[in-house]
Amino acid sequence: MADKITFEPQKKPMEPGSMLKNAAEEKNVIQEVDKIIADAIESNSTEVHFEPGPEGYLIRRREGTALHEVGKVEDKLKGNVANRLKVLGGMDITKNKIPQSGFFKSQKGEKKLELYVHLLPTLFGEAIIIKISYKQSATMRLSQLGIMQSVLVEYTKALAKGSGLYLVTGPPGSGKRTTLYASILEVYKPNQLAMGYDPVVKYEIPGMVQGKPDEKSEFTFAEAISSLMKQEPDIAYIGDITNESEARVTIQGAFAKRVVLARMTANDTVNAIQNLVDMGIQPFLLAASLTAIINQRLVRSLCASCREAYPATESIQRELGLRLPENSRFYKAKGCPQCQNTGYSGVVALFELYKPSEELNKMVVAKESIQAVRTQAYKEGLFSLKKDGIQKALAGMATLEDVLNSL
Ligand SMILES: [Zn+2]
Repeated sequence: MADKITFEPQKKPMEPGSMLKNAAEEKNVIQEVDKIIADAIESNSTEVHFEPGPEGYLIRRREGTALHEVGKVEDKLKGNVANRLKVLGGMDITKNKIPQSGFFKSQKGEKKLELYVHLLPTLFGEAIIIKISYKQSATMRLSQLGIMQSVLVEYTKALAKGSGLYLVTGPPGSGKRTTLYASILEVYKPNQLAMGYDPVVKYEIPGMVQGKPDEKSEFTFAEAISSLMKQEPDIAYIGDITNESEARVTIQGAFAKRVVLARMTANDTVNAIQNLVDMGIQPFLLAASLTAIINQRLVRSLCASCREAYPATESIQRELGLRLPENSRFYKAKGCPQCQNTGYSGVVALFELYKPSEELNKMVVAKESIQAVRTQAYKEGLFSLKKDGIQKALAGMATLEDVLNSL
C-alpha cells in the first residue's frame, strides 16, 4: 500500500466558512488541492503549476524535464485554491495583488519533503508554482555518477588532499548537489565535524550538521557561512555562492586547511575562476586555496534498448572540428515499450575537471587572460565538457544534439 502523505501547514487553517459562503465547497477545494499535491509527490514530480487563464487554472506538473497537464480548476474556485496554498505556506490570505512566497513540510512514509510555494499576480489571477524538494539520505557514490575513469581518479586524488576549495559549477539543474554530496561521502570520516549551509537541503548524511537561511531572519547568507566556519568544521559545504561576501568567507574558510565544498553557477571551470575574480576575490587568495573545480551538465540518457546508430560522417566531424576513428557512430532516439516510446531513460552527466597546476596558478595570479589560462589547462590535459560529451555520444549514452545543446 502507498504511504499516506501528510502536510504540516505553517498556519492554523481558517475556521470553516469564514472565507466562503459554502463551507462544503471550501472543504472540497481543500481536499482537491491536497490531492493534487499528494499525487504530484506520489509521481515524484518536482513542480506543480497552477497557471491562470480566463477559464480557470490549468494544472501542470513537472516529471523529469517536461511539464504534463494533469487537470483544470474552474474559474470561480481559483481564489479558494490560492487561499489553501497560502494557508499551507504561511502566507497572507488577505493579499492577492502582490507576489508572495511560502514554505511547508510534508512527509510520505520515511521520506521528508519540503514544498516551496510562490504566488505571482497576473492578468487572470494569481499564478502559483509549488517546488517540491525531496530530502533523502545521500547514498550516491562518486563512482556511480558516470565520471570517466581517468577524471574520477584525478578528482579522487584531489579530494584525498583533504583541504582547500572544491567548487562544483554548472547551470541550474545540472546535478551539482548530487556530485557535492557524493564528494562529502568520499571524504567524511565519522570522527570529523561536517557542516553544511544551503538554501535547499536536499540530502541528509548521518552526523552532518546542516542548516538553511530563513527568509525572515536578519542574517545574510555570508554571515551564516562565516559563523559556520567559526565552528571549525573539518568539512564545510556551502550552497550557491552568488556574491563577493559569500565568496570571500567561503575562500577564507578553505584557506584554513579544511575541506570546503561549494556550489556556483558558471559556464565552465575556467570561467568559474573569472567569475570569482570579477566578484572581487584576489587572484592570489584564489590560487592559494583552490584544489579543484568541476563543471557539469545533465543530458537525457538514450534508451539502450532502442537507440539507433548512424555514421559520424565527414561533415559532422568537420563541424565538430574533430577527426574520429573510422566507423565511428553517433546515436539517435527511437522509442520502444521499455522507455514508454520516448527513446530516453534517465539522465547522464557530463563532467569537466580543472586542477590548478603551479603554472596555472601563476597565470591566474598574473591576471593573464581567461583564454590563455584555458589554453594552458588544455595543454596540461584538461578534458573539456565538450570532449566528455562527444565521448558519451559516441558511446550511445546521449544524442550529439543534446550534448551540444547543453554546452
Ligand atoms: Zn527504448
